[in-house]
Amino acid sequence: MSFRRALITGVAGQDGTYLAQLLLSKGYEVHGIVREAGHPSNSMLAHIAQLSSTAGARLHQHVGDIRNTQWMAQLLEQIMPNEVYNLAAQSNVATSFAEPDVTHEINYVAVNSLLESVRRLVPHARFFQSSSSEMFGLTPPPQSEESAFLPQSPYALAKAGAHVLVREAREEGNLFAVNGISFNHESPRRSTAFVTRKIAHGVACIVRGEAEHIELGNLEAIRDWGYAPEYVEGMWRSLQHDEPHDYVFASGRGHTVREFVQFACDSVGLDWRERITHDEAFDRPHDVKATIGDATKAKAVLGWSATTTAAELARIMVEADIERGSRHVSFLDMPRLAAWG
Ligand code: GDP
Repeated sequence: MSFRRALITGVAGQDGTYLAQLLLSKGYEVHGIVREAGHPSNSMLAHIAQLSSTAGARLHQHVGDIRNTQWMAQLLEQIMPNEVYNLAAQSNVATSFAEPDVTHEINYVAVNSLLESVRRLVPHARFFQSSSSEMFGLTPPPQSEESAFLPQSPYALAKAGAHVLVREAREEGNLFAVNGISFNHESPRRSTAFVTRKIAHGVACIVRGEAEHIELGNLEAIRDWGYAPEYVEGMWRSLQHDEPHDYVFASGRGHTVREFVQFACDSVGLDWRERITHDEAFDRPHDVKATIGDATKAKAVLGWSATTTAAELARIMVEADIERGSRHVSFLDMPRLAAWG
């Protein structure tokens, strides 16, 4: 296998840390962009760096803002990556209603500049864009690569725009550029801004006697929830194929938020009916009713499928939160390692 070098934007996020782990295990030299030195989420990355250095693989950290076009171009020239994974995003739908401009800058404008720089400086690099099931919005499930985008949030709108840019870069600009349309994919590394982790964290607090209830918004929304480490495997596979295509990564199974609460409560023997209260502060101006993905193409072309069920995912996440609490340590507060890179 020839030597490979990857650049991951948003490497300190949930997907970034799992992808860095995967690529390091495959012998890649990995360069990751993080927003700020010393941000709490970087501690997970530092942990991975430590593990990888013992295995002889390398992880390099670059601190900066992907909106800084000139800096990004310099970095590309310096690193000359074979693969670029654009995972950096303002990734929270609820936040995008409060901060539409920032969401647009990061999720759309910065992608445009990055594609331009890749085309100019490293045209042979393979490019992965993290697209989102939120783009489908009002389009009823099941949603596939062919389904129409009817975005319902500033987040979804920006992601849909970036998706089109990547497709153009492939079809008109001759880049090996891929959109991976990942449906909701979760893990203990999710932040509590997302409903699955909020529920898992809430259940762990109830188990420890620190809380009685979990306050939630819309319980009827249906989402297709999978386990994040499986999704980064799909991202990697999409860049190893002979030709660039767009893919849906999804489990094909939909559950309501209410059912996810039930799975989480069941895993520790709690009665979910006694544990949730409604707080309208968590209702959204426009909520996507249902996303359920059709990942037939990813299975046929890449041999990829999601195997962890939502009930298993809920159990994994609740157990991790219970474990964290008892050790009073999480990936967010692991001791930070000194200089690395
Ligand atoms: P999204 O699908 O990318 O927006 O992922 P989220 O995990 O943020 O939200 C999934 C669904 O859970 C959406 O339909 C939300 O409206 C719903 N939901 C209900 N209560 C909450 C809550 O307290 N927090 C969040 N983040 N979502 C909630």
